[in-house]
Amino acid sequence: MRKAIVLGAVLAATMGQAVAAEVNVYSARKEKLIKPLLDRFTQETGIEVNLVTAKADALLQRLKSEGRNTPADLLITTDAGRLHRAQELGLLQPVNAIKLEAAVPVQYREPQGYWYGLSLRARPIMYSVDRVKPSELSTYEALADDKWKGRICIRSSSNIYNQSLIASMVVANGEAETEAWAKRFVKNFARPPKGGDRDQIKGVASGQCDIAIANTYYLGGMIQSKKASQREAAAEVKVFWPNQEGRGAHVNVSGAGVTKAASNKDEAVRLLEFLVTDDAQEWYAEVNNEYPVKPGIAIKGTLKAWGAFKADNLNLSQLGIHNANAVKLMDRAGWK
Ligand code: FE
Repeated sequence: MRKAIVLGAVLAATMGQAVAAEVNVYSARKEKLIKPLLDRFTQETGIEVNLVTAKADALLQRLKSEGRNTPADLLITTDAGRLHRAQELGLLQPVNAIKLEAAVPVQYREPQGYWYGLSLRARPIMYSVDRVKPSELSTYEALADDKWKGRICIRSSSNIYNQSLIASMVVANGEAETEAWAKRFVKNFARPPKGGDRDQIKGVASGQCDIAIANTYYLGGMIQSKKASQREAAAEVKVFWPNQEGRGAHVNVSGAGVTKAASNKDEAVRLLEFLVTDDAQEWYAEVNNEYPVKPGIAIKGTLKAWGAFKADNLNLSQLGIHNANAVKLMDRAGWK
């Protein structure tokens, strides 16, 4: 009898382990920028999170090659264009949860629920405090003006942030007009595109160019850097919010979608719901130097100093839908 009870207890414990809730996450965010949040989720829900981090495009490849056998339940990555790519590749499934739809504004999620934005990033104009007056600036479109000849730094057209920016212009102005614009814009480049967004900001700081287009979190990272050289470069550059009289500045998201092959779908949805709670939004936006997607969350420090701005309210799934056209157009315009 006693033996039977012990056996029963062992069995219950083993079963308990076997059914322990978990969720497997593939994340393109660096571990330190997401892990503390995932730990908090585990504390609150008892759901274990198994985290795999890698570069965004490598994760997409991995999901694709693993197919139905992937252990991943949730893909966390950057750029709506890339989230769209995951959807197009058949790697995601739609999720409709009231809490998600209530928290994430309609323009920052895929209309059918294939992915949801988790943080907002802005891609404004940055200018030299010495050589450019903000009164000379207005819109992305106006950067094609001859007065900017040889004065603009921007990274390559192979970069998805630029592809998404151009896709947003295709939606706003049409393909023909955007192509004509791009041809003039490219002529204003100070140098053939090279490096990442930080390198464009440094280009302005060192005097190679007077204007850059870059995501603000890179400038935020430089302002907060431990390296004096980064902080000094950042001090040479200011943010200008373009298109404020019109559609607003270009924004994009980091976001997440539940994988098509998810075997822990409920847990993945619960994690998504957790990531759009007020506390999580505040923390996640702050450590990444990004903006919360959820309205009404406090913005502090560096981001607050750049001021409030009007963001383009285009549904960001459009960035993915127009990606291929944007890429071809940039190529025809000679944007390397
Ligand atoms: Fe980035």
